Amino acid sequence: MKKTSVKQKLSKLEDFQNPRIELEQYSTPPELAADIVYTCYMQGHKNVADLGTGTGILAIGASILGMNVTAVEIDAKALETARRNAEKAGADLDFVQKDVTTFEGVETDNGLGPSRNSDGFRRFDAVVMNPPFNIQSSEGLKFWRKAFEIGDNVYGLAGKGFGTRLKRLCEEHNHELIAREAYKIGLPASYEFHTEESRSTPVDLYITRRKK
Ligand code: SAH
Repeated sequence: MKKTSVKQKLSKLEDFQNPRIELEQYSTPPELAADIVYTCYMQGHKNVADLGTGTGILAIGASILGMNVTAVEIDAKALETARRNAEKAGADLDFVQKDVTTFEGVETDNGLGPSRNSDGFRRFDAVVMNPPFNIQSSEGLKFWRKAFEIGDNVYGLAGKGFGTRLKRLCEEHNHELIAREAYKIGLPASYEFHTEESRSTPVDLYITRRKK
């Protein structure tokens, strides 16, 4: 499947009904989401986890490209939307309602899922995520920590200026930063604390991998 077809499918998905600002619920724009999952696909990743799946856009994108996907989300309402979206897109994937900090991977029926590493975590070839950007709080950081634990490769979005912090986190978790790509995303009008101009927000996609 071509990247443009993935983008087209993702652009038809339902958005958050009543986004919860305290959970930083806003969805990744379809073009950026398609970019992220397509990069994973090109790298040959098979088992993928989406942390904080929201309406499921990243998880569904990875699934329709043939990856085996587990999507984790704390909010029941968002998960309902994600499930509807998956059905609409013809994507077959696993949804788990959990706080990402307590997520430790899943047992698969066929035994082909991620294997348990020495820390007891089930490893995924890749973690994709658009986590809360508020790095002053521990919210965003717990996503990154979890991603480094369970993912051999991590594709995560972050706000501007996260690079130094991220490099330190990488070192603590035996990962290395291999790429950073800059994007601009429009935040929805529901985020009233943003002014008109700042609705177009620069973000970075960081790609890391576990050191050998
Ligand atoms: N991945 C989606 C949504 C991004 S918004 C996308 O790319 O469009 C961040 C998501 O993380 C929200 O859906 C929010 O409900 C979820 N979230 C926030 N804190 C969480 C936590 N501790 N555990 C699991 N999910 C969480």
